[in-house]
Amino acid sequence: MPTIVPRYLHLDLSKHVMRNISRFRLRAHTLKVEAAAWHEDGSCVCDQCPGEDEHVQNEVHALLICQDHRVCELRKHFSFLFSPFFEDFSAAQPFLLQQVNNQLVHDFLSQQNTRLFLFLSELMDLFVAGRDQSAADQPNNLAEGHSPL
Ligand SMILES: [Zn+2]
Repeated sequence: MPTIVPRYLHLDLSKHVMRNISRFRLRAHTLKVEAAAWHEDGSCVCDQCPGEDEHVQNEVHALLICQDHRVCELRKHFSFLFSPFFEDFSAAQPFLLQQVNNQLVHDFLSQQNTRLFLFLSELMDLFVAGRDQSAADQPNNLAEGHSPL
């Protein structure tokens, strides 16, 4: 996998954004492909993609391929980051249908646009927070009296 040049360390970014970029860069995050390495029966399949197709959830999937509607909205918001690199990318289809080569991903992640870091941070929020939230919701549902009467 390509690594991001740690240029972000010299930029005036919030602590939250810095932390998310570090997590993405160090791969110390909870995307499914990481979790699966730790759990024998863990699945690598993205659980945020709509539809029947099964996709391995890794960094490139999150960046470019995942069709989760919130992720697609985020890419549309930051479309100026994508269009110079990916011809297929458009507002009507803010995701790629196939894997791209690592050099292109590296070039994308190395572009000189500070807003790339904001995109990466919000992307991490979507994937990581989404998972944390489902775990956090469970006790609440029980506490709110959803048990059968
Ligand atoms: Zn996905």
